Amino acid sequence: MFRTTRAPRALCAALLGVLALLTAGCGKAGSPPAKGPATDKLPDYQVARGFSLPDSPTWTRAKKRGYFVVGVKEDQPYLGEKDPATGTYSGFDIEIAKMMSASLGFPPDTIRFRTIASANRETALQNGQIDFYVGTYTINPGRKKLVGFAGPYYMAGQSLLVRTDENDIHGPQDLAGKRVCSAAGSTPYQRIKTDYPRAILVAYDTYSVCVDNLLTYQVDAVTTDDAILIGYAAKVPDELKVVGKPFSREPYGIGVPHGDNALRLALDDALQAREKDGDWRKAYDATLGLSGVPAPHPPAIDRYPAS
Ligand code: GLU
Repeated sequence: MFRTTRAPRALCAALLGVLALLTAGCGKAGSPPAKGPATDKLPDYQVARGFSLPDSPTWTRAKKRGYFVVGVKEDQPYLGEKDPATGTYSGFDIEIAKMMSASLGFPPDTIRFRTIASANRETALQNGQIDFYVGTYTINPGRKKLVGFAGPYYMAGQSLLVRTDENDIHGPQDLAGKRVCSAAGSTPYQRIKTDYPRAILVAYDTYSVCVDNLLTYQVDAVTTDDAILIGYAAKVPDELKVVGKPFSREPYGIGVPHGDNALRLALDDALQAREKDGDWRKAYDATLGLSGVPAPHPPAIDRYPAS
């Protein structure tokens, strides 16, 4: 399985590099961009004073407790990354969580981030482990039966990450007989399983483990959203590249407990206001924008009726 024939030194260096970057939280606020525009420091979000949301059981419980517990990712460059030395989280999803909390009356020092893997998001929201979730979480009808979604606040698309020495994989049609890694419980995993059954699927809890497996030739490709893959490629551009065009639409939503419509709609209002006042854009430029992709227009918010 493990191939050692090709440039083991360079490979080791690259792997160590990625591990170091992933564990050292190199994408944290203030670190130099891999490419793309230099940015100002992260915005401070104005905290709503006297805000109250008594119809939301989640908000009411958090207010009594004195802080929000927000589910996030910790190993996705520019989106949700944890600095192991300081425990600080950073990235676009983290900024969305901070600006949403501020709009709901919670200053940044009253947010506790908790890392939750893709496969565990619905359960975490259902059993009250977290108040809401911001972590590359695609809104879809199946998940909407289990949780609520505010947003979307960003539109991603499924793509493929391969090694730079890979010449055979240009899109999902080339995956037959190839080892393809994705996160358990994710929409990209499910799509490969359903639409490209000749691919050899490998699942781990996180995409960073998939990337380690790619660098050590244990898999041939990693598949998930382009926004996530671009971040990994930007960390080691000599070793990894994103190929082909996105082949799905992945609207990112803020997950809330099912039935807490007051919280969901308050988050929709907050998102709309932050998109209008420029905070969304500033947050993007200071995080995901560092990967070199200019800020898109945010997608239209979908305020669906109470369920
Ligand atoms: N957006 C996709 C999903 O929600 C992939 C990214 C992820 O696993 O967080 O499943």
